Amino acid sequence: MQDKLQELRERIAPAVDLTGVSEGLLWDQETYMPEGGAEARADQLATIEELIHRYMADEAVGRLLEELEPYEAELDPGSDEAGLIRVTRREHRRRVSVPAKLDAEIQRTAALGTVAWREARQRNDFEHFRPLLEKMVDLRLQWAECFKPYDDVYDPLLDYYEPGLTYPQVRAVFDGLKPPLVELVQALVENRGAVDDSVLRRPLDPDRQIAFSREVVEKLGYDFNRGRLDLTAHPFTISFARLDVRITTRVQPDFLPTCLMSVIHEGGHALYEQNVAPEYYRTVLGTGGGMAIHESQSRFYENVLGRSRPFWRYFFPALQETFPAFRDVELETFYRALNKSEPSLIRTEADEVTYGLHIMLRFELEHDLLHGRVRVADLPEEWNARMEAYLGLIPPTDSAGVLQDIHWSQGYLGYFPDYLLGSIFAVQLWDAMRRDMPDVEARVEAGQFGDILGWLREKVHRHGTKFTLPELAERITGGPLDWQPYMVYLKAKFGEVYGL
Ligand code: ZN
Repeated sequence: MQDKLQELRERIAPAVDLTGVSEGLLWDQETYMPEGGAEARADQLATIEELIHRYMADEAVGRLLEELEPYEAELDPGSDEAGLIRVTRREHRRRVSVPAKLDAEIQRTAALGTVAWREARQRNDFEHFRPLLEKMVDLRLQWAECFKPYDDVYDPLLDYYEPGLTYPQVRAVFDGLKPPLVELVQALVENRGAVDDSVLRRPLDPDRQIAFSREVVEKLGYDFNRGRLDLTAHPFTISFARLDVRITTRVQPDFLPTCLMSVIHEGGHALYEQNVAPEYYRTVLGTGGGMAIHESQSRFYENVLGRSRPFWRYFFPALQETFPAFRDVELETFYRALNKSEPSLIRTEADEVTYGLHIMLRFELEHDLLHGRVRVADLPEEWNARMEAYLGLIPPTDSAGVLQDIHWSQGYLGYFPDYLLGSIFAVQLWDAMRRDMPDVEARVEAGQFGDILGWLREKVHRHGTKFTLPELAERITGGPLDWQPYMVYLKAKFGEVYGL
């Protein structure tokens, strides 16, 4: 059986390499590609996608997976070999279910759609983006059809970004969380005068902001020898392989958190990718797991750690050293400012508490979109109506409303819930970490971030795609994904900051 396993590895390795090439072209598209390159880039990405498809959907791979079934049944499901067979089968099935032409068409539309979205957002012109979004929704529906039978057309999309998730599961978590979350948001609105974040709105040199952010993320364990930091409209992380994991950020000259917290967030994603087990190289296991697991890492670093007192007890002196504007600011004032909560328009700038409502809005809206209850043409109006209902705000422009996120232009429908599920899981991880390391906060305060990275590497990072979110939750916490510890955490942290 070892020879069959080896043959499976060899047949899949080129697809893994090509995925890295595709990621590289996407990175370039978002960073340095001249505008005129869009059309050729779309063709190139479509061709690579077709090649990946050929390797992954290869009948020989299907035969090998069948022949390996009896062997797999005898293995410990938690073993690397069982994981390799299981995840390769999942990816193979996804590929054979979808015609190569449809896959390539989605890639092509995504590349063109991203350019149109960027122009539309710049000009506040939703109509400029509408035809490509309509095409994408239609393509995604065709794509979902390939995975029949399902209970809900949204299920294959959810499963694509976080394997094993279904609409009723997500609905149940969000339905449980929504009432106490809305209650907390309202309580904070009533006490809005308790926190003043004006100290964060001082003009700071953009280059120094980037340099300081680099120092922080490097201290957390990000390896610049296998990564780099660039500027884009929408921060992201891209992994060519665990040996080359890049992050991007954006800078606002008069609001430090935009750059710094984006770098910490993307750094969390990148630490995950950089710390996958080296032996998974050139296999389907060799990258981070589903997007909710991924978000649990970024949100852990950004919010649970990066907006905590111990974290800033360590980093604040260096911040004051870098920016004279902070020399007259108390640590406590800075900490509270960083945790100001207030309904706002832009998801990526939203605080930890209101963030969940931004996600629920998108989750419900894209579910309605796929079920034909909302048309693409009606999106701006629907968006604004729901923003008013959930957060009490009406976006003054579509750029600050329905056009703010890149996701739909790239065909990422069913992706948004993972941000909130990740936030929820991050707190479950934090609770488990504190049980294992009762002095973890003292270690953070002492700048011993290697201990935290080591814990995450063993529990989460090293496993790559081997385990699904429910499997990881069970292994680490002994239970399922649970919104209640998240709510306990939010109430304790923000109750204290706001003196509730
Ligand atoms: Zn993220």
